[in-house]
Amino acid sequence: MDALWLPVLWQGDRLDDALNAMKRTNCLGALVEREDDRYEIIKMWSVEQALRNRQNTLADVGDGEPVYLTSLEDASDGIDLVRPLRTGAAYEDLLNRVNCQFALVAQAYDMGLVVTRHETGRRGYSPSSTFYCSGGARTHYFPTPNVRGGQICPKCLGQPKGQIYQR
Ligand SMILES: [Zn+2]
Repeated sequence: MDALWLPVLWQGDRLDDALNAMKRTNCLGALVEREDDRYEIIKMWSVEQALRNRQNTLADVGDGEPVYLTSLEDASDGIDLVRPLRTGAAYEDLLNRVNCQFALVAQAYDMGLVVTRHETGRRGYSPSSTFYCSGGARTHYFPTPNVRGGQICPKCLGQPKGQIYQR
């Protein structure tokens, strides 16, 4: 299990606008909202391919990965809706049960928080590494890496302070 933020686009969006949204957010994929309230994840590569084939909108892009829409009922199975990285195993169970690779946990404006079924699920969509520190009571993450690997953790309170790792 892992988590990543992706830009949220509409199926009627133009392909060049979609490419710009991915570049602006430094993502190699996007969430596409379909007309029937379904979401899919598409790769930047597929959008570039569709552009080369003179397609116009995201509705013309094939091979999207279906995304499970997380609901409040799922929270009773022990998943943390607010801090998904704390309940990785429960999310993996959920995604195994609904047989999806991705779940949408949150969306606001033009970004969505997606949980992946597998540890490697971020690869291919998010080029930035994950920075984390396992010092202190809980592992803490640095989604916007204003830290470097090997650095003393700025989030650890008291002593001893942890160290930043990168994966
Ligand atoms: Zn720390």
